[in-house]
Amino acid sequence: DDFLSVMSHELKTPLVVVIGYAELLKNGAIGALNQEQQEALERMLGSTSEQLNIINNILETIQLEANTIVPTYQLVDVQDLIETLKSEYDSRANNKGVKLGCRHSATPFQIITDPAMLKQILHNLINNAIKFTNRGSVTLSARKVGNGKKVEFSVSDTGIGIPKETQEAIFEKFYQLDNTDTRRYGGVGLGLHIVKELTDFLHGEVQVESEPRKGSSFTVRIPNAKIAARE
Ligand code: ADP
Repeated sequence: DDFLSVMSHELKTPLVVVIGYAELLKNGAIGALNQEQQEALERMLGSTSEQLNIINNILETIQLEANTIVPTYQLVDVQDLIETLKSEYDSRANNKGVKLGCRHSATPFQIITDPAMLKQILHNLINNAIKFTNRGSVTLSARKVGNGKKVEFSVSDTGIGIPKETQEAIFEKFYQLDNTDTRRYGGVGLGLHIVKELTDFLHGEVQVESEPRKGSSFTVRIPNAKIAARE
């Protein structure tokens, strides 16, 4: 675990620099780009982001297993969070021809929870939703449930779907539906394991509803830490 942890940090640092420079290039900060260069850069950024995601998931799994994670509760503005996530993933979805949408109430509302853990949960779900959807849409939504004691987040897609008999197993560490040598989709099978572990950590619950070739919907319900602590 120490070895993996050091390796992941060492792999992550230069990668973050590469992504930073690629983004500067893409935004035209280092000079104008033609269409072909722009497209090459988009592909580069897509792959490097996927690689960063894998490294982050390995680091997160190591920390979870070493029991070194201590939650830090803060007030999180739910609409801000959803809108920020949408803008972070807009271009990746766009590049695949997938429409990324979001739904939340017009009145702002907050949740007290660990923001980093909540973001990691949603990042992993959105990442999968875009990865396993080749046409149609991905929708992020959030709403208050249980008289405001909980917030329900959901990430729905119109992607390849998951057969009923494997809907429990996908939350296991390193589980992937397609484990052939010629796997079409990247990843290491840690994303949903982390979603489950972090949701448990925040005393929440995660559910999946899915139909092959129609799509999947992952729902995470997180209690409001302040209200939960008062009871
Ligand atoms: P990874 O995405 O790295 O393979 P995950 O733990 O995130 O690992 O997911 C495990 C498996 O669950 C995936 O390999 C895939 O088979 C399935 N899966 C997860 N999310 C979706 C989704 N939105 N649509 C279809 N299949 C999914």
